[in-house]
Amino acid sequence: MFSRAKEQLKQLFGYETFRTGQEEIIKKVLAGEDALGIMPTGGGKSICYQIPALILPGVTIVVSPLISLMKDQVDALTELEIPATYLNSTLTAVEERERQADIINGSYKLVYIAPERFEQPSFQQLLASIQLSLIAIDEAHCMSQWGHDFRPSYLLLPKWIQRLHDKPTVLALTATATTQVQQDLQDYLHIDDQNIVVTGFARENLQFQVKKGIDKKQFLLSYISSKKQESGIIYASTRKEVELVEELLLKKGISVTSYHGGMSEKVRSEAQEAFIYDRSKVIVATNAFGMGIDKSNVRYIVHYSMPRTIEAYYQEAGRAGRDGEDSECVLLFSPQDIRTQSFLIEQSDRDTERQEMEFQKLQQMTAFCHTERCLQQYLLHYFGDKTIEKCGRCSNCVQTGNKVDRTKEAQMVFSCIKRVRERFGKTIIAQILVGSSSQKITQFELNKLPTYGLLKDWTQKQIASFIDLLTAEEYISPTGNSYPTLSLTEKALFVLKGETIVEVLETIVEKT
Ligand code: ADP
Repeated sequence: MFSRAKEQLKQLFGYETFRTGQEEIIKKVLAGEDALGIMPTGGGKSICYQIPALILPGVTIVVSPLISLMKDQVDALTELEIPATYLNSTLTAVEERERQADIINGSYKLVYIAPERFEQPSFQQLLASIQLSLIAIDEAHCMSQWGHDFRPSYLLLPKWIQRLHDKPTVLALTATATTQVQQDLQDYLHIDDQNIVVTGFARENLQFQVKKGIDKKQFLLSYISSKKQESGIIYASTRKEVELVEELLLKKGISVTSYHGGMSEKVRSEAQEAFIYDRSKVIVATNAFGMGIDKSNVRYIVHYSMPRTIEAYYQEAGRAGRDGEDSECVLLFSPQDIRTQSFLIEQSDRDTERQEMEFQKLQQMTAFCHTERCLQQYLLHYFGDKTIEKCGRCSNCVQTGNKVDRTKEAQMVFSCIKRVRERFGKTIIAQILVGSSSQKITQFELNKLPTYGLLKDWTQKQIASFIDLLTAEEYISPTGNSYPTLSLTEKALFVLKGETIVEVLETIVEKT
């Protein structure tokens, strides 16, 4: 059967060879094994179910989170003469009845739906009247509470699948699986260990950069001006920020399109098309833009502000360079970004447990912005791949500058945290060390501590940056939500005992 898969790849899709992971997943699916495929964005997940759908005798149901994308996906398949359709709330009752009849008559091999559709009796009836070969769950991380896009209706999928009369093969696919997410998906769908296919997350053609302590506006203007001929996406964290950045660029005569959830469907799809067909080189957008968009020649992604999670960041950054050509992913960081994201988490209607998890993820994202390690390595460690070498390309790898021994200063920070019995956060610790006479310091009599004023040659801001770095390097662990308290990890204890040293780049303690 697999030789047919190769034929289809060539004849229908025009590709000579499978990409890493595709062949293994397709073989498992064709053998009727339930599988979980974890591949990076742009890795080619769709083909993993589209080709089996054509070979297997019955229908393949594709569960997809976004109704707005189904039409595009189906149109692309129809163009390749692959019989595909979708069922969603944009159809009229008549259209829906006709489509259902056509599906029963065997006119389609692939049917795209959103997970909520399983709740409809008419869909249940349809399932009972067709031969169902495969259920492909796209963006499967939406099933896990640990995922960054949890959707309760995704969590009900295992129940619906279990109820089916003849159980079809199940293939779950995602680009963002931390070990926790992976475990959840495996448990919910009862997937055997040997049927989990994880392909390398490393994107050799991406160059990651983190810029701190810069004037974002100025940086963006000169960056975009140096890339006039190239396509790029600028991600902003709020609708307001999208408008601000758009205005900034338009004022300087740079033509841009913008995209966010507050725009009408029509305006959004026009903006999306203008970008996809290269009529507009630059698009400024919130994270509402991009899922499922297959534009291969995006040369750069700028995050104007820090996103909320590493998962979201890697997915958005991963939209650059799908064609394999060198591309850049630049993240502009300012401490204000943490406040914006904290505010957004607090404002959300999520329950306390969920919010706490989001704060934890935000702290990990913040640590990424402060680490001195290879950025690619940092990202891949986060996703559970500990084997990866330094990339040699990212802004940390190419950073020149001398390393200086900051063991003594690190010991001062750690002693200070210990002295206050790990009850205070970054600002107070920095104030104690700099010898500030702020109200809180006097109120709690922190000026009487032996660590008070130990780093008086530094500014409070420099100490705060140093603490951020020590946090990113896992000497310090923050606990709590918007204003986390700091505690020491085992790694810090070794430094306090004088068993290990702390070396940092000279430039890390930013000048005010
Ligand atoms: P994902 O869903 O993993 O983000 P897609 O399925 O959208 O990725 O595929 C990304 C791009 O890679 C598409 O343009 C697709 O046509 C292309 N692609 C997929 N498989 C192959 C292959 N074996 N050879 C070359 N290109 C491929």
